[in-house]
Amino acid sequence: MHINDAVFLEDLCPKFRLRQWRKSIHRFTGKSCIYCGKPSESIDHVLPRSQGGLSTTENCVPACLSCNGDKSDENALYWYRKQKFYDPRRAMAIRAWLEGDLRLAIRLLQWANTNFKVKQNFEKDESEYKAA
Ligand SMILES: [Zn+2]
Repeated sequence: MHINDAVFLEDLCPKFRLRQWRKSIHRFTGKSCIYCGKPSESIDHVLPRSQGGLSTTENCVPACLSCNGDKSDENALYWYRKQKFYDPRRAMAIRAWLEGDLRLAIRLLQWANTNFKVKQNFEKDESEYKAA
């Protein structure tokens, strides 16, 4: 498929675009929960939608169902600080993510998790993010 075709398809079909976006969010962390490092099964709104949080990349992080459900409508950083698996490097990563600095966020996550596999196509993902 040509890149031009993909753009065309996304314009035609917002659901396709949404699915691609959700996939790219998970890809940023190698499909691991930004809070605890377990496999990410959901997208968590850092500022909950009930409090006006938007579905933007800066406000949406990959999270496992356990963290997503447990955090509920609490402030993410405040909630995270109380967790047993709290790691200051991850807290910094979350903060960087919220500020839109995904490159820094991913670097901090790699530092926090030595099993984190460096993504080879990160440059490509970042350009997708910028285009979104
Ligand atoms: Zn988790």
